[in-house]
Amino acid sequence: MKTVVAAAIVREGRLLLAQRSYPEEVAGLWELPGGKVEDGESIASALQREIAEELTVRIEVGEPVGEPVTLGDNVILVALHAWLVDGEPVAAEHSAVMWVTGEQLRAMAVDLVPADAVWLEDLVGLLG
Ligand code: C5P
Repeated sequence: MKTVVAAAIVREGRLLLAQRSYPEEVAGLWELPGGKVEDGESIASALQREIAEELTVRIEVGEPVGEPVTLGDNVILVALHAWLVDGEPVAAEHSAVMWVTGEQLRAMAVDLVPADAVWLEDLVGLLG
């Protein structure tokens, strides 16, 4: 079983979204940034490594958000609540980043990658 982990980074009632640039099926859609957990790595440290690579920031990682989502054969996607501890996010591997309120997130639900859209209400709940 492989795990992909994604960060629900929250600051002042807004959630950080990142816009995918590939593959074609999801290019232009928005996601919680993250990536694959490597062998021997904890989910939290994998997420800190991926976020440092993708957004050039350091995060602290908290509790899971919503339920894990099955992505396909033997791959599960997990979201963890997170917050910035150093730096300002830069889209090093994405097309763009943006911060959204719960209301904005609901309004753009169709522009989320399908797996992450499952967490819509969990994410809105996080934003209070
Ligand atoms: O980002 P990366 O290409 O490493 O992601 C691995 C897989 O996880 C891809 O299939 C991607 O679409 C999926 N993913 C997702 N939601 C995220 C992050 C990754 O569905 N928030």
